[in-house]
Amino acid sequence: MANTIISVKNLVKNYGHFQAVKGISFEVNEGEIFGLLGPNGAGKSTTLEIIETLREKTSGEVIVDGLNLDKQPNEIKKIIGVQLQTSGYYPGLNLLQLIELFCGLYNRNVPPMELLEMVNLKDKAKSKFKELSGGQKQRFSVATTLINQPRIIFLDEPTTGLDPQARRSLWELVKNIRERGTTVIITTHYMDEAEYLCNRVAIIDAGNIVALDSPDKLIDNLIASGFDRPKEMKLANLEDVFINLTGHSLREG
Ligand code: ADP
Ligand code: MG
Repeated sequence: MANTIISVKNLVKNYGHFQAVKGISFEVNEGEIFGLLGPNGAGKSTTLEIIETLREKTSGEVIVDGLNLDKQPNEIKKIIGVQLQTSGYYPGLNLLQLIELFCGLYNRNVPPMELLEMVNLKDKAKSKFKELSGGQKQRFSVATTLINQPRIIFLDEPTTGLDPQARRSLWELVKNIRERGTTVIITTHYMDEAEYLCNRVAIIDAGNIVALDSPDKLIDNLIASGFDRPKEMKLANLEDVFINLTGHSLREG
């Protein structure tokens, strides 16, 4: 049996009279990529930010690696990696300097070039964050989540707005991170991405979890219920055409 690394029980978040998260419960296994899927406004970011200790919950229980959110939020902070909003990067510093700054904040000593190599940004070491393409910015921000050598990282829509190549490059990065033993929680609106990356997904709709299982099992359940795709699928789709014509390699200069 897999170890539980995050346990959420009856989590509720009210914003005034509006209930954004309506008593959800789920567990994340150590070493898995766990997806939170759901339409805009479903409560995904709220849920993540509560677990990340960045937002107060209304009620419920959250345990991260045996640490209770109510009692040991600072201990939780030490073992998790969180993406900053992009506005959080000092505009005048280059990538090396930014990593050094983060190392100082976390009191860690990670070789900056190794970290940049891992996210395929070595030749951008002297560039400023604002000079990066969308995909490069996302990879850099994933790199910064690794600086404190966390047990768990949280990625909130890391591939939104990226081109197909940059999206795939980020997928490989996330897989590598899992292979190093880090647990990943990710939100996305791309179902192909969730199917490719996630061991299990929770589908959230209007503050409730409406399904939780592996992508494969959820698809099988739907088929078993008698679902039939309305039109016959071809053996390729337009994204396959695009990738076939423009290649897998990144186009970001
Ligand atoms: P998601 O990430 O799934 O798109 P969010 O967690 O950001 O959803 O938001 C869930 C709901 O809570 C939305 O209806 C949103 O408008 C509302 N909400 C989020 N943050 C706040 C806030 N600070 N104050 C009031 N309402 C909020
Ligand atoms: Mg969100």
